[in-house]
Amino acid sequence: LKPRLLVSACLLGQRVRYDGRLLPAYPQLLAWQAQGLLVVLCPEVAGGLPVPRLPAEVPGGQGELIWRGAAGLCDSQGHDVSQAFRHGAAQAVQLAQQHDLRWALLKARSPSCGNQHTYDGSFTGTLVSGEGVTAAALRLAGVTVFCEDQLADVERLMLDV
Ligand code: SF4
Repeated sequence: LKPRLLVSACLLGQRVRYDGRLLPAYPQLLAWQAQGLLVVLCPEVAGGLPVPRLPAEVPGGQGELIWRGAAGLCDSQGHDVSQAFRHGAAQAVQLAQQHDLRWALLKARSPSCGNQHTYDGSFTGTLVSGEGVTAAALRLAGVTVFCEDQLADVERLMLDV
């Protein structure tokens, strides 16, 4: 079997989150991983950021603008980390192309991985419609991006192949 789905590493219980916290792994994802169906990546760690790290937010949910070269994605102390986020997103695109992946299942609301909403850049817990940098980069590369709330949709797609 060859890989079909790019997945956020934190959804598989890997210690990659900004706060160093482990999320419970999704059993279905672990099963697919054991079958060799997944390519697993944390874009922020791949981009060179440590664990733990300061939280960061995409201004206005505009992940696409950051991907296209804009500055302004800052951590909670005001350091611009746009470059590291782009670097991680580029690795996600490269992996998707290398493995000919059409789908990604990424962590909701993340400044890298969020596909529908992100926090707005004010560090006040405010969500906006928009997407993270990696989610935008993958979408622009022709990959359909889902989040864990859409796992049932991805399961249907995986059954059809
Ligand atoms: Fe890494 Fe994405 Fe998970 Fe954040 S949401 S820890 S960037 S895989």
